[in-house]
Amino acid sequence: MMKDLGSAFLDSLTEGEEFAEEFQKYRIIYEWNSIVDASIAKDSHVQKIDNQTMKVIAKYGTTMQEIHMRAPQIIQNIEKRYGSGIVTAIRVVIGGQKKKTEEAPSYAPEEGKIPMDQNRLSSSAVAKISEIVAPIKDEKLKYELEELAEVILKKEFYMKKNGYHRCPSCNTYLEPNEKECFQCAHKRKRERIGKVKEILIDNPSLRFDEIQHIMPCTMQEMIEGKRECLQYYLGQLYCDNPSMELRYLVAMLMTGKKYSELTDEKVITMTDPYTKVGREKVFNKYKG
Ligand SMILES: [Zn+2]
Repeated sequence: MMKDLGSAFLDSLTEGEEFAEEFQKYRIIYEWNSIVDASIAKDSHVQKIDNQTMKVIAKYGTTMQEIHMRAPQIIQNIEKRYGSGIVTAIRVVIGGQKKKTEEAPSYAPEEGKIPMDQNRLSSSAVAKISEIVAPIKDEKLKYELEELAEVILKKEFYMKKNGYHRCPSCNTYLEPNEKECFQCAHKRKRERIGKVKEILIDNPSLRFDEIQHIMPCTMQEMIEGKRECLQYYLGQLYCDNPSMELRYLVAMLMTGKKYSELTDEKVITMTDPYTKVGREKVFNKYKG
């Protein structure tokens, strides 16, 4: 019954699926008592659900073990009632009593940032929320769900109206002109630099335009990848007797020249200052 109510609510009120999931998460947190056996429920509660992992706080070690043991079944129950993909893993930690601050889910909108009062829900939306929560017997829960549904909906509508949208990778809100959040953009940039490094290790003489054929990246990303590669190989070059292979690798990275365009003599001249002997020579020259 719960699931049908939930979908009716969502179908009529939202276009996106984000809200559906947030709402279901909230329900799981508040309906934990009815998801697990009473023996578990009385000594545990759900703290949050992040990245499909549900964090449960258990009062005792025995409760923690029991939840661990029944995790597959609990996840199955949640899937049946609230939909799949919301919770795929359970993490249990021992903790004390439920704290007041834990009662507010972490995804509740930050107060003060959104002018909630100027952003009233339509009367049909309010009526729909009441209709959805009507069958809930627990008056406190009913009230809280109603409040939360309103807050989340207001936030969703406000954000949409003002051009905000979600980061495609992690779902956090983005400014209208942003394509991706800072963290995800940084992660992707590091991934590209890592790929550039792999490409350069195989083919140290590749130039920017040639790398573009294998993997599109920015000039800055290629320079960064090259710099990190060089840093690594220059570290290896600082030894008594570096191999010609290593010297060629460094020379190709530095110049972007192909193997056939270099000679042993050129390569040695170019790389000598970075070897141990070469550095000592330079050092002594300045010292003496
Ligand atoms: Zn993101």
